[in-house]
Amino acid sequence: MMNKFSNLNYRRDFQHQETAYKISENRYIDETEIINFILNSNTSDLLKFSQYLRNRENNLKIITYSRKIFINLVNLCKDTCSYCTYKKEPSAIESIMLNPSQVLSMVEAGKKLRCTEALIVTGERPELKYIEAKNWLNKLGYKTLVELISNLSEMILKKTGLLPHTNAGSLTKKEMSLLKSTNVSLGMMLENSSEKLLEPGNAHEKAPSKNPKVRIKSLISAGELKIPITTGLLIGIGERLIDVVKSLLLIKELNERYGHIQEVIIQNFAPKVGTRMENANPPSEDYFLKCIAIARILLKNINIQVPPNLTPIVYSRYIDAGINDWGGISPLTPDYVNPEYPWPAIDDVQTVTKSKGFTLRARLPIYPEFITNPSKYTYFVTENVKDYIEALIDNTGLVKEEYLQ
Ligand code: SF4
Repeated sequence: MMNKFSNLNYRRDFQHQETAYKISENRYIDETEIINFILNSNTSDLLKFSQYLRNRENNLKIITYSRKIFINLVNLCKDTCSYCTYKKEPSAIESIMLNPSQVLSMVEAGKKLRCTEALIVTGERPELKYIEAKNWLNKLGYKTLVELISNLSEMILKKTGLLPHTNAGSLTKKEMSLLKSTNVSLGMMLENSSEKLLEPGNAHEKAPSKNPKVRIKSLISAGELKIPITTGLLIGIGERLIDVVKSLLLIKELNERYGHIQEVIIQNFAPKVGTRMENANPPSEDYFLKCIAIARILLKNINIQVPPNLTPIVYSRYIDAGINDWGGISPLTPDYVNPEYPWPAIDDVQTVTKSKGFTLRARLPIYPEFITNPSKYTYFVTENVKDYIEALIDNTGLVKEEYLQ
């Protein structure tokens, strides 16, 4: 038992060797033991363990990012999360409802800058709340937002070859199946599996779509439809550490069932002026690092992403905590969800990544393991998108260097 575990330098100092060994070697371990292990370990030990697990899976020492164009298709939303400034009212000067020609010009501009991902983001079912959104869709010839996204995705693929990845909130199985043939993957944050956050005064009180039951149903639908999906947690919105652990265990279980969770985003809450949570404290650095490390420890070889723009001074530390991805970074469009936090230049991200001994590589919005593993490729990727994927990659499944020149 000690052989493998003795590879870890911290063996002598680590307080819970037996449990760490079982996690490391994929031995059976019950939930109570995992929770005790996490809650009783200090951050420094968890970071060392998560680095070990990340480096064991990532012997080429690569950290990835996705070069993207951010299409803020419609920023009206039927829900109201207590931390969100993305959602706008139709009367606001910043409200956005794009038409297909605007979308196409943005994607073409992104292609000139060597983007590979067309990220389509919307609020949650705006047409159910706002007549303006309903009229916008009807004028374009659609009854629902998902029908529009489906046709835009087809247009983007055929006219530019960029790969659509949609995050339109909690979609139904029928809606996801409409997007499967044109979107190489979908995105939907779980945020947290704790229903406490729906209670009066809490972050999701006015956001029924953030009910974990609704979000879990969408994650299950994606699994049943064989759709690679990105999900994640928002850290510091009133949850406890144990809620983070339980949320990650739930994601792990879903991935064990369907194998479709391609990436888990660990995102820090950042208080914003004008929201109900403007005076709430952001998560402490220690707590946030601990959450990242726990994600790696529990999810092992699932890609763990932390966006670099929300904490521009300290983001290099997330490499120490076990991440292997920086998420989507756009050389052209802002982060419309967090416009207060511009993305660092890709060259800066490269420098920071290199300073920690890793190489920065561009990936597609579908991760390499879904492309290079033949059985995963056949199972998860529809014929309609294969030629577009193959035109952009080298034999590692990452973006080929010639494309980026
Ligand atoms: S976070 Fe998403 S669901 Fe919540 S209010 Fe903002 S746009 Fe709507």
